[in-house]
Amino acid sequence: MTLSDSHLVASNSAKAVLLDELKVSLESLFILRWAMLDDVRMLMRFHRDLRHFLRGPISVAEATQSLRNYLDCREHSFLDLRDKSVYRQACSPWRALLHNARIELSDIRNLVHRGGIESTLATLYDAGVFLRAPEAKGVYPVVRNGTEIDVRPEEFDNPVLPGSFHALTGGSSGPRRRLLIDVALLDHDVPAQRLFLHSYALEQRTMAIWRPVPPGAAGLKRAILQAQLGVPAQRWFSQTNPSLRHSPAKSWLFLQTALVGARSSGVRLPTPEHVPLERAAVVAEWLASRKRQCHAVHLDTMVSSAVRVCYAAQVGGIDISRTFFRVGSESLTDSRAAVLRSAETSFACHYSMSETGPIGMACSSGSCVDDVHLLSGKIAILGRPGPDGRDALFVTTLLAGAPRIMINVESGDSASVETRSCGSAFGAAGYLTHLHTIRSYEKVSGEGMYFLGTELAALVGGLSAAALRRSADRLSVRS
Ligand SMILES: [Zn+2]
Repeated sequence: MTLSDSHLVASNSAKAVLLDELKVSLESLFILRWAMLDDVRMLMRFHRDLRHFLRGPISVAEATQSLRNYLDCREHSFLDLRDKSVYRQACSPWRALLHNARIELSDIRNLVHRGGIESTLATLYDAGVFLRAPEAKGVYPVVRNGTEIDVRPEEFDNPVLPGSFHALTGGSSGPRRRLLIDVALLDHDVPAQRLFLHSYALEQRTMAIWRPVPPGAAGLKRAILQAQLGVPAQRWFSQTNPSLRHSPAKSWLFLQTALVGARSSGVRLPTPEHVPLERAAVVAEWLASRKRQCHAVHLDTMVSSAVRVCYAAQVGGIDISRTFFRVGSESLTDSRAAVLRSAETSFACHYSMSETGPIGMACSSGSCVDDVHLLSGKIAILGRPGPDGRDALFVTTLLAGAPRIMINVESGDSASVETRSCGSAFGAAGYLTHLHTIRSYEKVSGEGMYFLGTELAALVGGLSAAALRRSADRLSVRS
């Protein structure tokens, strides 16, 4: 090769690199353009669905019947979801796990017909069809029967849902995620929330929320559900600043779409007001002012935030007695419940997971402070001995509208599980499985922020850089 030939090759090589870079840049622009269009499309769909969702409340009788129907159909729902969202999906990690265990759909059908869902789940678990919490999060590899199975957390999203596209959950880049709140997926939660309000005689109470604005989903979900049930929240205090300057742009846009969408349906969602954690006295003062006007309030908030309100009331000599706290997001222990009682307030605690929404609704006849009815039409659980010596809960989603496909996924929580008839509205609808003394053995929690114990271990213990990166991506607020 002559010098000029070498020069020509080098020149062509430089051109090829330049062309490649140009191509990548053009592709990036193209993707960005389509990502933005996707976001606009999703906002429009959310706006349209929200208007339909807010069409009007349902009666207690309708809610009871609806929940009964979910129970009656649960075996069909379970099998249908495995068929459409697992066995017909070439990329499903569940399909890979089931094939590894040599279990076909016909086997699952036979197992369900012979022994029901819970017995089937036990058989699947014994065959290796389950995921530990760190495996489901992608922190640790999944190895079954000597084979490593490729699992990426985003592949657990339900592939047949129409809304499984780009995020409106925050950042402008990163993996594809679901819409922050897909109102079409709240259908099951409406009758459950209706029966809850009825059980605790909350239909006529003034209602308010003290929860963060998006990207946290719980506050907005609660505001939308309450509006749908005809008892809209009057105030929405937010621990996080709701202004555009302090929120991720997409989250802010999502919130504004919800506020405008509700208004165009003739429903008013309260405009969020920033009340940081250290100013719990502001919330306490408002509760007291409403009480003086004979409107004891139903406040929906996190366990630790309710405790803060009670402390602030105690310190400031503020009378918030007769307030009803609907709490969640963290364990309600006896000591925290004692603080709420000391302020002469009452309370109820649901059980939720960020992947599924509510899975346990407070029992009005429970003997423990966190006694809930498992929403067995939506979720099945399998108890296996946990590290704290109690039943660790492994969760399976049942409904076609489930955002995530889960089969025996470790929740990281343990609980006491009982089957009993209690005479409450949920009991009358056939929901007899109770959970109580629910504790997280996997997570360190505080003010709604949850960190997987294994993730903390990874952060301090020197796992691979990729594992650390994946862990950091998943630290999230639980609804
Ligand atoms: Zn009960």
